[in-house]
Amino acid sequence: MRRAGLAFLLGAMAMSTHAADAQGNWITPAEASQFRTTPSYAQTLAYLQHLQQAAPGKLKLETFGITPQGRPMTAVIASSDGTFTPDAARAAHKPVVLVQAGIHPGEIEGKDAGLMLLRDIAVTGKYPHLLDHVVLVYIPVYSVDGHEYSSPYNRINQNGPESMGFRGQAQYLNLNRDYIKADAPETLAWLKLWQTWRPDFLIDVHTTDGADYQYDLTWYTEDPHKLDPVVATWQHKLMVEQAIPAYENLGHLASIYLEFKDGRDPRKGIENFGSGPRFSTGYAALQNRPALLIETHMLKSYAVRVHAVYDLLRVVLDEIDRDPAALLAATSRAEADTIARANDVHAHVPLTFKPDPTSTPFELKGYAFTQTHSDISNDTWIQYDPSKPVTYHIENWNGLLPDVSTTPPVAYVVPGEWKTIIDKLDAHGIAYRRIGHPMKDVEATAYQIDQPQWASEPFEGHLMLQSFTLHAHPVEVTLPAGSVIVPMNQRAANVAMELLEPQAPDSLLHWGYLNAIFEAKEFGEPRVLEKLARDMMAKDPKLKAEFEQKLHDDPAFAANGRERLDFFFMRSPWYTVQRVGAYPVLRVDAGQLANIATK
Ligand SMILES: [Zn+2]
Repeated sequence: MRRAGLAFLLGAMAMSTHAADAQGNWITPAEASQFRTTPSYAQTLAYLQHLQQAAPGKLKLETFGITPQGRPMTAVIASSDGTFTPDAARAAHKPVVLVQAGIHPGEIEGKDAGLMLLRDIAVTGKYPHLLDHVVLVYIPVYSVDGHEYSSPYNRINQNGPESMGFRGQAQYLNLNRDYIKADAPETLAWLKLWQTWRPDFLIDVHTTDGADYQYDLTWYTEDPHKLDPVVATWQHKLMVEQAIPAYENLGHLASIYLEFKDGRDPRKGIENFGSGPRFSTGYAALQNRPALLIETHMLKSYAVRVHAVYDLLRVVLDEIDRDPAALLAATSRAEADTIARANDVHAHVPLTFKPDPTSTPFELKGYAFTQTHSDISNDTWIQYDPSKPVTYHIENWNGLLPDVSTTPPVAYVVPGEWKTIIDKLDAHGIAYRRIGHPMKDVEATAYQIDQPQWASEPFEGHLMLQSFTLHAHPVEVTLPAGSVIVPMNQRAANVAMELLEPQAPDSLLHWGYLNAIFEAKEFGEPRVLEKLARDMMAKDPKLKAEFEQKLHDDPAFAANGRERLDFFFMRSPWYTVQRVGAYPVLRVDAGQLANIATK
């Protein structure tokens, strides 16, 4: 804080010398307030426009979307030699690093750190070579409308700035749960930006909640089991071997992300926080990209948190700039692996993950704490004492293992009428072709989904399907003209699988986009079903026995007249013709007309 004040003073006093002039004029709004406040979006853009005017060969502002309330979504393209397009970046063999701030706009360090860093790269000459071999795409504020809904009361757990943005965008969606379902206009704009640039590395800057401890910053990367091995290896080397040691050499203290098994007692160890494709880093993993989640510690001062982000971004960019080829090799290899996998009938792609039951020792640089019984909550109240640093030796259960997995099909087939699904394929830039003529005698695999159970409350605007039973069965069908064939020999194959495999945690089925398939449209009147039941039992003594057994075994069933009649209705052609629970997307597996995917 003192440094910023001094710089401001020097700037005011010594306008005649070039260096001081630059230093004085380029103080950022947060620095000018000594990190008490963070600038509005208009002030942020004004500062960036001044930087661009001062360094047009190094910085370029672009609008990549419009928010629901009509504000521009802005990205800054930064490169030391004016490499400002994806094609130019690829031609120059420069990896593209996307840094985004303010997806949760109350957690806004990334904006103020980014303004300082761009200034020091492009204008003040402090790090003129940081972007010699890397193109930076920087989003200063992702959730712009949420950023402008600023209040001192938006983050109860956090220590400044004085006023801060709101976690939801204007339609009350959390953008960091929206990557796969892509409901928000902001997400659709981001996905276009992603497909345009195909960034090689994503950095998403947040502020944490949770426990108190000594670290000024924690960081998270996706579990290696969720990544192509080359990407996992590159990421580990970058963070564990290079960036974090360099960051700590600058005087910081960092840790892997700390999700405590029991928030009332940090000694019980840490576990994985879950993540998944609805999150930024999880989505990047599906796209064969490494990604870094930065979480500054909410109880450190805003000045400390901004400088923590500034320094980590600087060392990460420095490491990538030092060896850009390693990152490019990792991402292109991962894409090639995904494309080649389509020909491997033995491939298994994990859809869900479970905690690895083995733990490793972990040294937690925490604080002393007390645990008292609270008569308000009737639970344990933990109170930290930040004046007493304590190192705890705890267990780390952060690792994950694959759980449910599946062999990728050669292709999926989406009926042309399921526009909801096709729109999502488009949003994610998934390649497909639409057949112009009916395709006869196609052997495929269909899913039947039964016993659906929904959540009792909405989540992100959806009543999610929580559980169901799944049966795969072979079918031979004629695909009508207009059917959409989604081949799996494409680099976005993992995203397609996440959307279309029912068991994937962020499948469109789980998000409730296909809830209608569980609704029977026609019902039988009881007086009609009475006769149907008698006719069916007369024809089928086994069915009669089954009914009687169920009456005996299931008292709730026995007590429900409608269910007793439906027992017969649901086994009759009057019901099965409705195809309740028939999942509309088909898999074409290897051996079932493999050439369907090749044209
Ligand atoms: Zn956050």
